[in-house]
Amino acid sequence: MKRTVSFSKESSNVFFHILTDCNLRCIHCYINKEQHGSNSLSLPEIEAWLELFATKSKKTNLIFLGGEPTLHPDLSLAIKKARSLGYSSITVDTNGYLFNDILNKIGPDEVDFFSFSLDGATKTTNDMIRGKGSYDKCIAGIRDAVKKGFNTSVIYTVSSLNILELKMMPPLLEKLGIDRFFIQVIGIRGNPVKNDFLKPDCHYDDIDRSGINQNGLEQTKLQAKLQVSRALWTEIIPETAEKAAEPGIIVTYPKVFLSPKDTFECAGLVADNYFIFPNGRVYRCPLCEDFPMHSMVIRENRLIKRGKINESHLFKLNIPEGCVMNRLIQSDNLEYNANGTPEFKVACCMLKEEILP
Ligand code: SF4
Ligand code: SF4
Repeated sequence: MKRTVSFSKESSNVFFHILTDCNLRCIHCYINKEQHGSNSLSLPEIEAWLELFATKSKKTNLIFLGGEPTLHPDLSLAIKKARSLGYSSITVDTNGYLFNDILNKIGPDEVDFFSFSLDGATKTTNDMIRGKGSYDKCIAGIRDAVKKGFNTSVIYTVSSLNILELKMMPPLLEKLGIDRFFIQVIGIRGNPVKNDFLKPDCHYDDIDRSGINQNGLEQTKLQAKLQVSRALWTEIIPETAEKAAEPGIIVTYPKVFLSPKDTFECAGLVADNYFIFPNGRVYRCPLCEDFPMHSMVIRENRLIKRGKINESHLFKLNIPEGCVMNRLIQSDNLEYNANGTPEFKVACCMLKEEILP
């Protein structure tokens, strides 16, 4: 069964970045330490901040993120605290290295999902994007988690570097025993904006850049070319998602391009999502995270609303291109006709299609 997951005020989603450090330096990483902080939250801070968002009145889904959240030595205690506070689901997003023996410090009844990031069906493509050795580590981490009885999901961030290889993912997911598959779309924020990974003196020693050049991408234009056209997206994504769902895997992918019959909605107005960073910033829109536009901030463990101008003032703007932030920061995915009218609207990045078994 395929359905569009409409935004709901009945549930909320809390994306909690407990640190920004990471052992990897992926090409498309959205973490921006200037904007998000370079600190790691202490356990008492994590617990106090969890209390701020644990609303008993509605279903609240919690996702622990980083950086790499398993680098935090107290992640297992944070998970236990979240469970005691009544969060309705708890997910850990990981690059698969699973530091601090995390799979042995918590049980499958304490965490709902370990979500592994894999950006290629092959070592060559994944390691070109995420760094040498990351494919093998991630696969080993998935196998270990499945063996120990945890529910697992895989997140695949689609860009021009790996969209063709997405078609090879369904058999791999089935073989690994994955429960959920999240297809995401590259956002032009964080590293893709810096675009320094192709410069001769860049510090991304782990990245094998030969694969990128083989793809014929000009270095200076890579930033724009990371995005995928509507034609390629619609040709590959829905069909591959259906294929991946055949063995009973739940598959979710962003709508991205709206058809004329689809209604545009901004999640900032109609949903309840919080993106929390260790410097205390709280955003409602992920596309705003490269800018000091957060609508709230946590100070002394209190959640405070910020005054003008912040992201919330953009959400009400009505433009023919759909999402305002997409128009502002990553408009290379838009197309216009000869009159200058957009050919289609771009959906909110949080609007998803979900295929259920
Ligand atoms: S995308 Fe994730 S795994 Fe990759 S560098 Fe960023 S935080 Fe680390
Ligand atoms: S991605 Fe666009 S539509 Fe979605 S919350 Fe942000 S500004 Fe609104």
